[in-house]
Amino acid sequence: MDLDAALAVLAEEGAPNYRADQIRQAISRDFITAWDEASTLPKALRTALEERAPVRELVLEEQQYSQDGTVKARFSTHDGFPAEAVLMRHGDRHAVCLSSQSGCALKCTFCATGTMGLGRSLTKGEIYEQLLWAARTARDRNARIRNVVMMGMGEPLQNLDNVLGFCRLANDPDGFGLGARSIAISTAGWLPGIEALIAEPMQVKLAVSLHAPDDVLRTELMPVNKRYPIAELMGMLERYREETRRRVYVEYLLLDQVNDRVEQADRLADLLYKHLPGGHHVNLIWYNPTGSGLNASAPERVERFQAVLDKRRIPYTLRRSKGSDIDAACGQLAVKGAAAAARAAKRAEREPA
Ligand code: SF4
Repeated sequence: MDLDAALAVLAEEGAPNYRADQIRQAISRDFITAWDEASTLPKALRTALEERAPVRELVLEEQQYSQDGTVKARFSTHDGFPAEAVLMRHGDRHAVCLSSQSGCALKCTFCATGTMGLGRSLTKGEIYEQLLWAARTARDRNARIRNVVMMGMGEPLQNLDNVLGFCRLANDPDGFGLGARSIAISTAGWLPGIEALIAEPMQVKLAVSLHAPDDVLRTELMPVNKRYPIAELMGMLERYREETRRRVYVEYLLLDQVNDRVEQADRLADLLYKHLPGGHHVNLIWYNPTGSGLNASAPERVERFQAVLDKRRIPYTLRRSKGSDIDAACGQLAVKGAAAAARAAKRAEREPA
């Protein structure tokens, strides 16, 4: 959904100013799926909007429903690239995990998306449309979206303009009206993007996937670490913390016998005390296997890891895996659309726009 394009149509059609509020309301509050549903607009304007700024640019290809209330959607863009979003229920609260890119260039070894390579970055409208899907799905349960995490396919900070453009749309008090602090941008540690966020006035949350407390293991799991090793990453996070006073959320995927030893928990605590004293929160994440050969930590290993963090007084939350009975891990569902993405990429190479 390209709201700017819709506003341009209003201007081209010489529509009065109040129509802009009506289209914002129709898109972001009523969650229309086609302009014909916007009954406050005259028919001729609805037709012009549908032709030049359609409400839905993404095609919903597939939805999967988990017994725990998680719903996963796979979309394709108008040029054939897959994207996915996951709606999660935590008690009566609903959160949605969105994709910022189709595929991803960073190739983390535990991640299904990483096997696809990068198709292309998504536009802010394509990201917003995933949120609107989630809002409609939640509305069917009489619920609202309370939180957004940019933790689906892609590295959000490699598509920062569109991601921030999306955040502004979601945050617009005359539109969707989601508080900036209810939006979390999750990065694998793309330093130029973190630096740009230091200067960003919108108070979105920053989550950083660490997943290992030493460079050898982190590079093995996340090749981006070769370019931006832990010392540089933590140095940038220190700057982020000092200049914004915002907390940093540290994501740590628990991988059986890989990064879940007690010494590793201790090293993680050391890093956080050294670089982010009083300004961190760890999210321990139960791994949802993706066929990578890596497994979720055994419960007793998770307990031992937690015991170290407890002893070291590191604030943390243990996040249970959502949608483990469907393809809910990052990229699992969209990987099924990867062949289509590869075809679309080849087509785009042959026929540049
Ligand atoms: S974990 Fe995130 S950054 Fe890493 S490959 Fe997957 S989508 Fe990309």
